[in-house]
Amino acid sequence: MNLTKDKNARKFLYLMLSIVVIFVTVVCLVINNRNNQIISGATIGETDKVQEEQQVTEKHTEKETENVTEKKEDKKPETTITPQTTKQQVTAVASGTIDNPTLITIDENNWHLTLVNSGYRIPEDYKPDLVYVCGSSERLDKKVAEHYEAMFDAASKDGVYLTPCSGYRDYELQKRNYNNKIAYYESLGYSKKDAAVKAATIIMPPGSSEHNLGYAMDIVCVDEWFEDTDEFQWLMANAADYGFILRYPKDKQDITKVTYEPWHWRYVGVEAAKEMKASGQVMEEYLGAN
Ligand SMILES: [Zn+2]
Repeated sequence: MNLTKDKNARKFLYLMLSIVVIFVTVVCLVINNRNNQIISGATIGETDKVQEEQQVTEKHTEKETENVTEKKEDKKPETTITPQTTKQQVTAVASGTIDNPTLITIDENNWHLTLVNSGYRIPEDYKPDLVYVCGSSERLDKKVAEHYEAMFDAASKDGVYLTPCSGYRDYELQKRNYNNKIAYYESLGYSKKDAAVKAATIIMPPGSSEHNLGYAMDIVCVDEWFEDTDEFQWLMANAADYGFILRYPKDKQDITKVTYEPWHWRYVGVEAAKEMKASGQVMEEYLGAN
């Protein structure tokens, strides 16, 4: 009798132990998953604006990450991505990747459609012809500045001020910001490769930012709630008439690989801007580049 009782008691104990182990495992998995969500969620609100650039600190170990991004940049032959070199040629040179980007040259006739992203980059020594815009301390490529000023003037007449907040950035600054972001994600436990990909969703690798080209302006710079402002509404309604597009829309993050940036407006020319606005395409889709 006692033996059976003992056996039953032991069985019951094992059963309880198993339940506890399963419960603890499930709890750990849930917590882990939640932490990952918090990490990625925290990135969405972050920006690539001036404020962030100023937080650049030297304490991070930049050297290792610099090697990763720099060494690989020289591997591919230079290519040009323009309307004539859409789908066919882009795929012909094998689309660049974040690890192995394609270096591009700018086609003078179609400069406004130059595509840069983490897979397509301008060379380190690229130097645009820059001018200050709207009496601010921000600069744009000279060819873009006149269009920005025309847009700024038109908006001002409607009582809306498209304050230039962050225009051209040089390659070195972009590199520092990007490497700091990589170091940040590595400190959170990401592998070097994953940290580089994660960092690129917020701060573009050097040479792949439209700010390095001098073709884009961050306007007003008030973070994601910029979309609630009159300035944003005005831009959504009118920017295409001046050749500017919302480059990183909320619903195309899977294609641009960049988080939503309502403040970032890129010049592509009036014709392309209107076509992209009408079709809802982002540059990658418009140019047939993946
Ligand atoms: Zn920007």
